[in-house]
Amino acid sequence: VNHAGVVTYKKKPTSELMAAIQLGMGQSIGGLSSKPERDVLMQDFAVVESVFFPKEGSNLTPAHQHSDYRFKTYAPVAFRYFRELFGIQPDDFMMSLCDEPLQELSNPGASGSIFYITQDDEFIIKTVQHKEADFLTKLLPGYFLNHSQNPRTLLPKYYGLYCYQCGGKNIRFTVMNNLLPSSIKMHEKYDLKGSTYKRKASKSERAKSNPTLKDLDFNENHPEGILMEKEYYDALIKTLNRDIRVLESFKIMDFSLLVGIHNLDVMEREKGHTRVVSECSEYDSGYPHQDSVDTQQGKVNTSLQRGKSFKTRLAQYSTALESITAKTDIEENEDENFPPGGIPARNQKGDRLLIYLGIIDILQSYRLKKRLEHQIKSLVIDGDTISVHRPGYYANRFATYCATRVFKKIQTPLKHSPSKKK
Ligand code: ATP
Ligand code: CA
Ligand code: CA
Repeated sequence: VNHAGVVTYKKKPTSELMAAIQLGMGQSIGGLSSKPERDVLMQDFAVVESVFFPKEGSNLTPAHQHSDYRFKTYAPVAFRYFRELFGIQPDDFMMSLCDEPLQELSNPGASGSIFYITQDDEFIIKTVQHKEADFLTKLLPGYFLNHSQNPRTLLPKYYGLYCYQCGGKNIRFTVMNNLLPSSIKMHEKYDLKGSTYKRKASKSERAKSNPTLKDLDFNENHPEGILMEKEYYDALIKTLNRDIRVLESFKIMDFSLLVGIHNLDVMEREKGHTRVVSECSEYDSGYPHQDSVDTQQGKVNTSLQRGKSFKTRLAQYSTALESITAKTDIEENEDENFPPGGIPARNQKGDRLLIYLGIIDILQSYRLKKRLEHQIKSLVIDGDTISVHRPGYYANRFATYCATRVFKKIQTPLKHSPSKKK
């Protein structure tokens, strides 16, 4: 925020930035439709398309009220193919990104990146550093190969990389999948790395109404971890392990597991129900196919908030449940007010949870950036507890933390374990 009270990024008012990039993306996505569909070739990854947007407009671009700027699209044909792979139609992509104002999210991270979310909740726009954008372009061929071979993944899905250029400044940003739909209340939210060093959310973050907490907070709040039935646990850990190996192979570090927890029982308790989980002798309401609860009102909406119902996601394989099962036709709770896409789980109290998650912030390569930092930090701090470490170590520690500490398999289904209705 500058002296005039205007929110800025690299000295640009973010409102101007938003309008300019929405115009830019609209032109870029629309312009692509004139290029015939074809297979992606290696050279497509290196293409950078550049369009000038003069204030007065041009034969390619509309007139606008901002300063002249240039808008660049990286690997347009390759990203188009990638969007298609996930079932995102060009018209839908354009409407989501360009037709409605974007909403700015507060970023708990230290990097100073700006985050925008599209009004339909589908996409997140994140500004990235020059190095990160360069790294993503180098990563693309291998990354796309991996995603097309394996839709069962929790790695971020990048649907576009762009650059807004104005007054000698470059603002690069990616469009990616949104992991935490805002129509579903997240009772807790964690950014986890498997490290303990400086992994407690700051006081100011914790004071927020919907804070993003960290490893030490998680360990404190969930001393017994999050409990999952074998079927879900195995699918999740298998997916995570595979993803972590991919990241390790690219020497990527410092990524996080973003975990959102929707608590069905808290929702019910908040709605004034007296039914107390710990006093129930048997859980037979059918979970996740929980269809009703025993109240005088009969069937109850467990999750409908502010009159917003849950829309089907545009992109395929974009919910947590789809990402670990690689199925798009999962039979979920038929109740249209039951939040879709979460992985069923329990906390140690026996509350029924839906888990939303994915891996984020993967554009830091050890090779490019971390060596010096590591050499310095390892002199002063025990290498075991710092998050800046060599990629193999980071990956193993992350994997172990997820599989043994964050998520736990319920061995023998107990009376409070999730059980599915036949
Ligand atoms: P730093 O480098 O300081 O860790 P950053 O600016 O690179 O931060 P990220 O780590 O990518 O930012 O993300 C910061 C926060 O933004 C996350 O903890 C999460 O709350 C939110 N966030 C990031 N990516 C997504 C996503 N795809 N879906 C939903 N929320 C996200
Ligand atoms: Ca991060
Ligand atoms: Ca980062």
